[in-house]
Amino acid sequence: MTNDSKTITVGVLALQGAFIEHIHMLKRIPKVKDVIPVKTEEQLNSVDCLIIPGGESTSMALIAERCNMLEPIRAFVQKKPTWGTCAGMIMLAKEATGAKKGGQQLFNALDVVVNRNQFGSQKESFQTMLHLPEILGEEPFAAVFIRAPVIAEIKSPKVKVVGRLEQKHGQTEAETAVAVLQDHLFATAFHPELTNDLRLHEFFVDMAVKYL
Ligand code: GLN
Repeated sequence: MTNDSKTITVGVLALQGAFIEHIHMLKRIPKVKDVIPVKTEEQLNSVDCLIIPGGESTSMALIAERCNMLEPIRAFVQKKPTWGTCAGMIMLAKEATGAKKGGQQLFNALDVVVNRNQFGSQKESFQTMLHLPEILGEEPFAAVFIRAPVIAEIKSPKVKVVGRLEQKHGQTEAETAVAVLQDHLFATAFHPELTNDLRLHEFFVDMAVKYL
């Protein structure tokens, strides 16, 4: 079978946050055979790839720890295609600044330092047009940032920046990295599941199909 005709099972981590919205987006993509909300190790083992949604990364880490999911997810994200959006991007990183006192547990895969709550509080949320030419061509994407993080530092040449802010927002400079790829990992600081635009979900599904 060629990759074009393959279908996959996508997991959406459903411990906390905006997982329902991702599930609705994925159900619209023909290459997605099944979408599984993932809460247990057994469910995690049944999926080909995983989306870690936005939400609250400290809560997500605590719930993952209580459900004995920290280590299984850490092992999964080392080798299987995974996309982290917003809090999910924080969880995928190896390091986070602006974390709660005493630090927070992360899934430790992406070689970056993220800065949490880069733009301030909820009322500093915004929507902006971004170009992601390597993955979406010319057509910009309407990116929704809600108490969003940014990529503050890149720690490995394997990390490729595929999206940057195009304007200054508050204290945050234009050109700040907000979307990256690293081998089988994809991370966006914004929430593509809160738009009607399927293109980033389709991109991730195609990327995951290549890893089957
Ligand atoms: N500020 C949240 C955190 O630090 C992320 C917000 C979001 O996912 N929209 O986890």
